[in-house]
Amino acid sequence: MSLGRRPPISEKLIADLSREFAGQVRERVPLAERTWIRVGGEARLYLTPTDVESLRRMLRRLHEWTVPVLPLGAGANVVVADAGVSTSAVISLVEYMGKIADPVVHGSKVQLQVDGGTRLSSLLDYCRRHGFSGLEFLAGIPGSAGGAAVMNAGAFGRELSDALNRVVTCDVRGEVHSWPRQQLDSGYRCGGVPAGQLVIGLDLRLEPGDPEKIEQQMAEYRRLRRQKQPYGLPSAGSVFKNPPGDFAGRLVDAAGCRGWRCGGAVVSMKHANFITTEPGATAADVFALIDRVREQVRKTFSLELEEEIIRLGDEYPLAWTTEDKEL
Ligand SMILES: Cc1cc2nc3c(=O)[nH]c(=O)nc-3n(C[C@H](O)[C@H](O)[C@H](O)COP(=O)(O)OP(=O)(O)OC[C@H]3O[C@@H](n4cnc5c(N)ncnc54)[C@H](O)[C@@H]3O)c2cc1C
Repeated sequence: MSLGRRPPISEKLIADLSREFAGQVRERVPLAERTWIRVGGEARLYLTPTDVESLRRMLRRLHEWTVPVLPLGAGANVVVADAGVSTSAVISLVEYMGKIADPVVHGSKVQLQVDGGTRLSSLLDYCRRHGFSGLEFLAGIPGSAGGAAVMNAGAFGRELSDALNRVVTCDVRGEVHSWPRQQLDSGYRCGGVPAGQLVIGLDLRLEPGDPEKIEQQMAEYRRLRRQKQPYGLPSAGSVFKNPPGDFAGRLVDAAGCRGWRCGGAVVSMKHANFITTEPGATAADVFALIDRVREQVRKTFSLELEEEIIRLGDEYPLAWTTEDKEL
């Protein structure tokens, strides 16, 4: 079913949610400022639960009203359509659900539990301060723990799934599930988290390490990133996934698209698999540029690039859940 044909979110539901739940129930929240690429429209309904119980009750209520849910992490891999999100409820855990539990250390193993809304920068800072090694490769990658688990964030030959024991999720009916790593069919930029599951926690396996060495390694990864990527400019990270045996950036460059522009969206001169935006850019500019680049690569190499970024909006299928899916 096309989400564009879904009914608008009911005023009565919003009033019920506002009365019943801890956390914030907000209307017409601009999403551009909650994403790293800084374009796109508003969320008709933006929910920030304070804890797992308020989240579960929120999800049950939304399910009763058959309102689909769209989780937003730190907004580092998404582009929100200019028309925004009006028929799904956007749920964000990064405001209140970002705690890191006390670690459990047994010999050379460290077990660390973090909330799904924990920002990667806070998690890495915590690991550096406590001398926990295993996530250094994430240094400089923006995001939340939940978003990183869903996308299986990775760099420099490592992926988040390498450091996972299990993922804890909540489904659309508010039921909590625990998924050992072996049950997740993870792969390149796909954490294998089943559809319809909102990631509320990660159980990570790390190792004790020397804080100074950890810091040095993180600093080196950040330096490499700044050297190769348009760091500091608005973007949603890599636009396309690397096809097997090649690099999307190399293909985009060789197809002659480096520096191409649509309105305020530009194919980065520094890394051709990044699209950066200028003030005044729209999501339509970004999508038009992506389509032009994909078409040019198709014509040049007879190869179809797959998008890594996630398009969010009423006209796009929900990456997180298929609305009618029974779990
Ligand atoms: C400058 C820059 C550099 C980057 N470099 C890299 C890199 O080197 N490697 C890499 O892998 N990525 C990279 N990225 C992409 C991005 O940082 C990662 O994909 C990150 O893990 C996204 O996390 P997020 O919390 O921002 O997710 P979002 O972008 O908010 O969401 C991504 C997807 O996950 C879903 N989602 C978010 N949170 C949850 C949740 N709790 N439960 C269920 N679903 C959820 C969303 O609905 C969406 O479908 C980069 C991005 C930028 C801007």
